Amino acid sequence: MEGNHGIEPDQQVLFVGLVCVDILNHMEKYPIEDQAHRCLDCVWQRGGNASNSSTVISLLGGSVEFFGTLSDSKERSFIEEDFKKYKVEFERCVVVPNTLCPISVVILNKETSSRTVLHTNKNLPELKLSHLQDKIDLCSGLVGWIHFEGRDNAEEMAKMLKYIDQQNEQLISSSSSRKRIITSLEAEKLRLAPRLVEFDMWRLPDVMFVSKDFARTLGYTDMESAAQGLYERLKPGAVLICAWGEQGAAAMSAQSGLVTSAAFPPDGIVDTCGAGDTFNAATIHALSKGKDVKDSITFGCKVAGFKCGIQGYENIK
Ligand code: ADP
Repeated sequence: MEGNHGIEPDQQVLFVGLVCVDILNHMEKYPIEDQAHRCLDCVWQRGGNASNSSTVISLLGGSVEFFGTLSDSKERSFIEEDFKKYKVEFERCVVVPNTLCPISVVILNKETSSRTVLHTNKNLPELKLSHLQDKIDLCSGLVGWIHFEGRDNAEEMAKMLKYIDQQNEQLISSSSSRKRIITSLEAEKLRLAPRLVEFDMWRLPDVMFVSKDFARTLGYTDMESAAQGLYERLKPGAVLICAWGEQGAAAMSAQSGLVTSAAFPPDGIVDTCGAGDTFNAATIHALSKGKDVKDSITFGCKVAGFKCGIQGYENIK
């Protein structure tokens, strides 16, 4: 069955969220406090959920833009070079002078495969509705899908989602042949949970991605009951998608009912950092190509499983 989230071939997906620098420290085992340790490897990567997902869509052949605030710090050139390397457009980002670039120091423990993230964001402001209105022309027809990484600017994100809705309404009333812009939102950071309720955000996006930890915080113990239970909170016609690590993913929509995909484990786990971002990107890519919900989460699991078997994103296909 054809899905109803397809965008035009010449349209792009816009990812809204954070870009930061990830410093990945690969270690034989977890470090002991107050001791010096040698790492197996240390890799600098462009990071941030929305920024990672942009990379993955581009590698899958999609046209993509990242939109967020960008610190005018010494790390800026590293970030911009990397966006260019992966053919992710970023030129409309809001560059903020006199701010420090957010940094994530990640400890990757080879013994247990655990990922410990130490994130610092001292003063980079979050994106506001006015930035979107100033920088992105939603009427141009260029943007077909806008994905939001759920962050601390929940109130502004709610305003942005409502603004896109209004633009879509205008499009429909002007009987233009252009399709409405599809929206999606990722709920991963646990502190977002009360804010989704406060700003009535469950009912705003067309597609809602909920992470395993987020669903667990809300009391769900498996992906099927999370997809079914949380689907009730969405607006009519919306899709709930829930990735669940090595279990795979589940989704629920009026059209598909409850659907699941198993995970696709690689021969050996190399790097699970960004598995969720990869899953979101690949699932959006498939939905935006007109695939149905089950095929889309299956594609998401395949690409995310492949990603777990390689370092970074470079060879994703
Ligand atoms: P996050 O990176 O947000 O913790 P998850 O751990 O839920 O994300 O993983 C997202 C997707 O990545 C899963 O749905 C699954 O398809 C894939 N994945 C994650 N871990 C593994 C694994 N160990 N083996 C195979 N696939 C995995």
